[in-house]
Amino acid sequence: MPKTKKFKTESQKLLNLMINSIYTHKDIFLRELISNASDAIDKRHYLSLTDDSVPSDETYTIFIERDEKNRTLTIEDNGIGLTEDELIKNLGTIAESGSKAFLEKLEKKDVDIIGQFGVGFYSAFMVAQKVKIQTRSPYDTTGYQWVSKGESTYQIEPIEKDTIGTRITLHLRDDDQENEENYSDYLTLETIKRLVKKYSDYVRYPIKTDTIKQTEEDDEPTTETITLNSMIPIWKKPKSERTEEALNHFYKHQYNGFEDPLHVIHTSVEGMLTYTALLFIPAHPPHDFYTENYEKGLQLYTKGVFIMDKNKDLIPDHFRFIRGLVDSADLSLNISREMLQHDRQLKKIASHLEKKIKSELEKMLKNDRDKYLEFYKAYGRNLKYGIYENFGAKKDLLQDLIMFTTNKSENYITLSEYIERKTDDQKAIYYATGSSRAQIMNQPQMDAVKDKDYEVLLFTDEIDEFMVQMLNTYQELPFKSLKQSSDDLLDDTKKEELETQEKTNKNLLKALKKSLGKKVKDVKLSGRLSSSPVCLVSGEGLSLEMEKVLKQMPNQSDMKADKILEINPNHDLFQALKSIFESDTTKLDDYASLLYDQALLIEGYEIENPVEFSNRMVKLMVESSKK
Ligand code: ADP
Repeated sequence: MPKTKKFKTESQKLLNLMINSIYTHKDIFLRELISNASDAIDKRHYLSLTDDSVPSDETYTIFIERDEKNRTLTIEDNGIGLTEDELIKNLGTIAESGSKAFLEKLEKKDVDIIGQFGVGFYSAFMVAQKVKIQTRSPYDTTGYQWVSKGESTYQIEPIEKDTIGTRITLHLRDDDQENEENYSDYLTLETIKRLVKKYSDYVRYPIKTDTIKQTEEDDEPTTETITLNSMIPIWKKPKSERTEEALNHFYKHQYNGFEDPLHVIHTSVEGMLTYTALLFIPAHPPHDFYTENYEKGLQLYTKGVFIMDKNKDLIPDHFRFIRGLVDSADLSLNISREMLQHDRQLKKIASHLEKKIKSELEKMLKNDRDKYLEFYKAYGRNLKYGIYENFGAKKDLLQDLIMFTTNKSENYITLSEYIERKTDDQKAIYYATGSSRAQIMNQPQMDAVKDKDYEVLLFTDEIDEFMVQMLNTYQELPFKSLKQSSDDLLDDTKKEELETQEKTNKNLLKALKKSLGKKVKDVKLSGRLSSSPVCLVSGEGLSLEMEKVLKQMPNQSDMKADKILEINPNHDLFQALKSIFESDTTKLDDYASLLYDQALLIEGYEIENPVEFSNRMVKLMVESSKK
């Protein structure tokens, strides 16, 4: 007795859509079923190399059976098949992220997007009123049959099936002349030929069908089996046939993408080392890209035969967003996965690819800046990590690929563009850190460059400042933080003036420092502030921003930045401090503490004791009202 089971909710939604589809390119169902069949054969082939319970089959084939009398179209493969569990799990639910994303877009009722997505097996219901799957996995003792009309349920039962693999039979819908829906077309050789050529030509296994052949008029017609696809993998096809559409489809199917890639890189190398690589930059990073769960790697093929899925050695961490494959004739099929990891050939290919990817990115930056910006917004942070990692070992490779916005422009510029634009007297590359553009632009330290007309790189990523420690210089100019104590932005008269003022107010500054105790390393007068009363800068070494980042990391020691409180000697507040110091030193503690906390707040840091801050503030307000 067949068991009847219900589809999961999401599956039902997708099925409903397929059944009621008014989508005009229903053809794609064939490419989806063929792709699945090809994957299943890949899987079987691969498992047969390592798992004794999976017998290999020398004649891997995808067979299309056209039965005009019964109006059925059958796609049969001798791939890995499905166990009973897999039938229920893989075809009764939508686990795959592409389909989920598809459904989300669907809520917006955009029918045209069907063609852009790999909607998979369910697309069969666009043309079939009933679908029957007969399958046998090497991991099950019997075959299984799965039948559904695409409504809310499906039936499943054990069947006899001798061969491993899957047979999917589509009972085509009735033709609908009124709406020009001619499902019978899918039973003709011409249509099947055309669709295979168009969508599945590169599939690596032969896609066959039977045809009736009549040579002489009087001869008995004979049945002939013909192969419909060239089987040349897409990456081995001539450029003219590697169309954008074909590549995009290949990418989406192969890497579960649900949108076209941002960029495709194809490279073929011949000589000592012969290989072809087909690489894609996904339009957006996957949701787990910046977590430990993300797995980088390229697929590995030898002479068009799949060997392994995610070879990590082929792609360096700084380019880990790249998806794709390498096909090399120089690799032996029998090498185990462990051995592959140490293969010298692979190392060489990896190093070629690294250079190739870099040069492609540089080309994009030069010739198609908008596209590069899209790329950079998605993956720029990863490049910066690349510079930081391994003590800057890759900085030369990557430094020309990173970009920043500046105080002068919201558009991203590269470091070399910064150098081109800098003023002649400028001796450093200036940067300022903060949580956002707006927050940095409002920081008091920005005053220092206002009258100098210097351009300042805005660092808003946590990694930025760590990265810049590794870069150290660019085109021989050092990087300098506006938040680091230094007087190199001051001219000589200003420096002298400041020195005199510091001398005259030595006792006040000392008293402030004493009052703040361990919180600060020093209290100084500032030459960099114009309108702001105070700011907080760091000494040598760790910066304030870096201290903040390190604090958030697990297992970090409480490393601290040296904090220097700078006071603007030309601000009214300084005069107030002076008179307090002369008349009523008891209040100095309150003033010092408030100033310090204010400086922290302006920088976007938390203050250590908000209650105390508030109490001091209130006290001051009450006192001033009494006057
Ligand atoms: P996708 O192929 O994108 O994962 P599908 O809906 O097309 O989504 O298929 C769902 C799952 O069903 C596949 O991942 C695969 O595990 C299984 N499957 C589909 N067709 C076959 C087949 N011909 N042979 C074996 N397994 C298959």
